[in-house]
Amino acid sequence: MRDVVERYGLRPNRAGFIQCPFHQGDRTASLKIYKDNFHCYGCGADGDIFKFVMLMENCDFKTAFRQLGGEYSGSGLSDAAVLRIKKRQIERDEKDRIMKQAKEKYIQACDKMKAKAQEVESYEPMSDEWCSGKNELEKLQAAADDALAQLLDLQRHESG
Ligand SMILES: [Zn+2]
Repeated sequence: MRDVVERYGLRPNRAGFIQCPFHQGDRTASLKIYKDNFHCYGCGADGDIFKFVMLMENCDFKTAFRQLGGEYSGSGLSDAAVLRIKKRQIERDEKDRIMKQAKEKYIQACDKMKAKAQEVESYEPMSDEWCSGKNELEKLQAAADDALAQLLDLQRHESG
């Protein structure tokens, strides 16, 4: 991580901090360089070497990987190590994808519920269609609750 940072002419101080290149006016050097990742205590920028290059170069993961892959095979880091880092990135992307899906599922469930509630309102109260509509509404409500619980669960894992 450190040598990648130094490539950009950024020198970590004795405590391993640099002035954050990702937010303005960081006079106190609030971006900490760890062994495999970085974290800015000012703006919250966070990630591994690939993320760092992606942010610095404003490029996608593939480009950053290609850059670092070349760099690392030249600097003695094994392909296995590079692949390991890549795998971690892919796992993180997978988590993001699952989280996004869960969010969409919840939004869809809410939309369905709202649509059904409107439909039920147009029926005559206590009529057959009103009753069955109410039943369906309850099921949709339960599905939305499930989706929300799942989403909250994922977010808990993410932060914990
Ligand atoms: Zn920052």
